[in-house]
Amino acid sequence: MYKPHIVILGAGYGGLMTAARLQKILHVNEANITLVNRNDYHYQTTWLHENAAGTLKPEHTMIPIRDVINQDKIDFVIDDVLLIKKEEKKVKLKKQEISYDILVVGLGFEAETAKIPEVCEHIFPIENLNNARLLREHLEYNFAIYANEENKNAARLNIVIAGGGLTGIEYAGELVNRVPALSKEYDIDKTQVRIINLECEQSILEGWNDSLVNYAMNSLESRGVEFITGAKLIEAAQDVIVYEKDGDRIEIQAKTVVWAGGVRANSILEKSGVSTTNGKAEVRSDLRLIDNDDIYVIGDCAHIHNPETNTAYPATAKTAVEAAMVAAYNIKAQINGESLISFKAKKKGVIASLGYNDAVGVLFNGRKYFGWKAALVKKMSENRYLFQLGGMNLLFKKGRFNIF
Ligand SMILES: Cc1cc2nc3c(=O)[nH]c(=O)nc-3n(C[C@H](O)[C@H](O)[C@H](O)COP(=O)(O)OP(=O)(O)OC[C@H]3O[C@@H](n4cnc5c(N)ncnc54)[C@H](O)[C@@H]3O)c2cc1C
Repeated sequence: MYKPHIVILGAGYGGLMTAARLQKILHVNEANITLVNRNDYHYQTTWLHENAAGTLKPEHTMIPIRDVINQDKIDFVIDDVLLIKKEEKKVKLKKQEISYDILVVGLGFEAETAKIPEVCEHIFPIENLNNARLLREHLEYNFAIYANEENKNAARLNIVIAGGGLTGIEYAGELVNRVPALSKEYDIDKTQVRIINLECEQSILEGWNDSLVNYAMNSLESRGVEFITGAKLIEAAQDVIVYEKDGDRIEIQAKTVVWAGGVRANSILEKSGVSTTNGKAEVRSDLRLIDNDDIYVIGDCAHIHNPETNTAYPATAKTAVEAAMVAAYNIKAQINGESLISFKAKKKGVIASLGYNDAVGVLFNGRKYFGWKAALVKKMSENRYLFQLGGMNLLFKKGRFNIF
């Protein structure tokens, strides 16, 4: 009997959910499954802004992969993926090379470096748990130095967030909650701290309904966040950033610049010669590459066309999880010679958290949510994901029950 080797690259929202589904729906005799990931843990990417602000411990964001997968059914390999060799049906990892019959690519995103100003070594992206931790440490280090130095350097307490989309706004919300405690810890007057959000469009949360944008801005401004819209970050040196607004070059003294100005799909796709749109793999509606029947691409790596809007589905955790379900179903169908189904996202909306117990967003029925109600809906959807992934055990270990 044909027993294909299924290899899943990446244990993020998409990859780990594909593995969890496949171990449920495939019998051990039907396929060999290998999951490859850089770390022995999965991290909740949607919580990274909290780790980067220091409002959530990194341990809470980590889920040991061995807690989710059944190792009798899935071989778990900790390694770095370097290249996909489509023609040879092999994947080059740092420590070895592995062959596949069916491949699932769920390697996520990376910061859009092409958009980052030239002097970029002082910019902190929020891409993974390690750089989220680095940003938190950098903030604390600067507060500590400021508290101890004789000639106070205000740049240490000025934090610039470049980008007013979902990540930038969620990070601002967490940071503004963290600053009072951090200032107290280091005997610093909290009014000396500036959190500045730079957005190159005329409004933050571009494309969102005006009432949601206004709510988010008012909530964050009332807690001390400064917004500068129509402003493009063009330089970031050690102590100063420069942005352009209405043709003028304006400087801000700042030692912390957070990049929330855009992400792109993992560049391994392009390096591997996969055909892409804006860096994302072009897939058919069944989530296989347009020119390959054995490679599925999901999550932020995939450009999945939405025929209703004639655009790509948004790169969100929800899209990644829903795509994982479809990919797992289709892999089983492919093995059994049955028809494959098309991906169609359930319209679930999107919610931006604005710090502890505040959020704003819209749900599938078009209904808008503000404040603690929106925060509650977001927590419920995060809990639902944890339950889907690892049942009651994982839900109770990692779930968010701090409702009020
Ligand atoms: C701060 C922040 C807040 C967000 N908030 C929301 C939100 O509220 N709602 C929402 O829907 N979306 C949100 N998103 C977007 C969401 O996190 C992504 O769309 C989602 O994580 C994509 O899932 P994925 O499976 O494609 O990739 P990921 O979840 O990023 O997983 C990729 C996996 O691949 C691994 N990997 C990467 N490269 C390699 C390699 N070379 N070798 C081995 N392993 C590798 C990584 O370690 C990781 O485990 C947010 C993103 C950020 C950064």
